[in-house]
Amino acid sequence: AHPVRLSVRLHPYGEGRRLMLSRDITQLEQADAMRRDFVANVSHEIRTPLTVLAGFVETLQTLPLQDDERARYLGLMAQQARRMQHLVQDLLTLSRLEGSAPPGMDCWTGVGQLLQRCEQEARTLSVQLTPAGATPQRLVFPDAEQLLSCGELAGNPEELHSALSNLIGNAVRYTPAGGSIRVDWQLQPDGSARFAVRDSGPGIAPEHLPRLTERFYRIDRSRSRESGGTGLGLAIAKHVLQRHGAQLSIDSTLGQGSVFTVHWPAQRWRPGGASA
Ligand code: ADP
Repeated sequence: AHPVRLSVRLHPYGEGRRLMLSRDITQLEQADAMRRDFVANVSHEIRTPLTVLAGFVETLQTLPLQDDERARYLGLMAQQARRMQHLVQDLLTLSRLEGSAPPGMDCWTGVGQLLQRCEQEARTLSVQLTPAGATPQRLVFPDAEQLLSCGELAGNPEELHSALSNLIGNAVRYTPAGGSIRVDWQLQPDGSARFAVRDSGPGIAPEHLPRLTERFYRIDRSRSRESGGTGLGLAIAKHVLQRHGAQLSIDSTLGQGSVFTVHWPAQRWRPGGASA
């Protein structure tokens, strides 16, 4: 009664194989399109600062400039060079992450120490980005006593640092002067742990949320560049967190701020490590 179904069952290498082949080809085409997009994005990201740098070099070579003007141009050139350094650094990080096996359960990282390092860096960045005379941002981190009971996470300390510091760095970079940033570490009753960064920044419209962790996806390109962003921070954070069995979720309200939360499964956390 159903000759077609019967023939598929009897000959799995007939119709079934054709379907598999066409699915493989579609996946290959998609991977190739993604690779081309990525190369185009990287080229664009490198070409922009290079063009600016070349322009300044030409100006310095051809125009007689006052000392203060010359110093200003050199400062802007250094800024572009740093931007390219960050980009290359982030590209290397991504490529290392893609080319290495996920970290196992044999290496543990003290969360207290990790958060202390992130706090120092965040405070330095916040001071750097606050314009002279503006109200400083308010940064709240777990206090010394809370840090002692944060325990340890299974995983690579440098990778974990890059993921958490990217989330905290974004909160600092996108929140205006006078705003506040709060970092929390909380143990859940089931033994899992939760890390959260809350900011009182501009917030993110819902239509951007699903694409935010894609490479080079930015809501406001010029703002991201101005604050030293490469467009790869969240892609790196998501990749690292996935490798560590953790999950990133983002909640945001336009005009009110954002919350980036990382959920760590119970088997990836253990108590102790306060002195680490
Ligand atoms: P970037 O280097 O541009 O910051 P990311 O991958 O870290 O790249 O972030 C992607 C984009 O997500 C940013 O360009 C910015 O538009 C948006 N974004 C990230 N974090 C925040 C935040 N805390 N508040 C508002 N927007 C954010």
